[in-house]
Amino acid sequence: MAVVFMITPRHPETTPGNADASSLDALLVPHDPDAAALSVFDAGAARGDGVFETIGVNAGRARKPESHIARLAASARIMDLPAPDVSVWRHAIDRVVSLLDPERSGVIRLVITRGTPGAGPTCWITGEEVSPEVRERESGVRVVLLDRGWPIDIADRAPWMLAGAKTLSYAPNMAALREARRRGADDVVFTSLEGFALEGPTSSLIIRTGMLLSTPASGDGNLPGTTQREIFDWARQNGFETSSRRVPADEVRSANAAWLVSSVRLVVPITAIDGRGMDVDAELTDRMNEHLLALG
Ligand code: PLP
Repeated sequence: MAVVFMITPRHPETTPGNADASSLDALLVPHDPDAAALSVFDAGAARGDGVFETIGVNAGRARKPESHIARLAASARIMDLPAPDVSVWRHAIDRVVSLLDPERSGVIRLVITRGTPGAGPTCWITGEEVSPEVRERESGVRVVLLDRGWPIDIADRAPWMLAGAKTLSYAPNMAALREARRRGADDVVFTSLEGFALEGPTSSLIIRTGMLLSTPASGDGNLPGTTQREIFDWARQNGFETSSRRVPADEVRSANAAWLVSSVRLVVPITAIDGRGMDVDAELTDRMNEHLLALG
């Protein structure tokens, strides 16, 4: 089952800031998931010029909607798009969750494109039901390290590359995943030109060295991961130290354990890097996934 709402911009005179649920509801226009929704001239369709968020739904609850709306706003800021209307998006997420089967898991997407010339941004939200079983949480993934072709200071050196924004331009990330499959692997850890580990095409990287969990810093061109942040909050309350820093690729290879983490798959252990097996910390993987699923 899938649901789609196109979101109409709100006018302060007709829908004030403290609008009630029914006036916010009026801004959500139900759309047939199989019907065309966009102009071929929409900048999102024609150029990938827009931003998005993917939110996991477990046990009838969206996970961390506020963090995702905040990141949508941060991505919009980096892209010079107007600030998203937080209460409209918050209401839209609740509405979509209420339409999904609480017995199943779900994926919600928020999308803002630069729209068609003169008309302002195009906004929509989708919700889909998915199986609650995610095989990779148990089986793990084999990764390859792939050069992203970026220096570690990409965000300062070339802000127009939009590093750290969740833009619709994911074609290079998808190409990297195809390259991983060609090399007999399942997923990717990007590296910087200097050989620092960065992130996956759709996930953040976490490594464990003793009781220290480390992740490549978001200021270094990586998307600030909402799942990684939740895990670090939990880890600090459970006897671990945490660090966001530059992580040389060699440290990933020699770590006690490593994971790719993201909003829908959650915590997925890395079982091999460039064909060389890696130790898996199955117990810690399970504890982290249980914590995230319990948050709903
Ligand atoms: N990095 C990239 C490039 C991503 O696309 C994603 C998620 O889609 C992440 C990291 C992980 O972010 P989150 O944990 O908020 O899903």
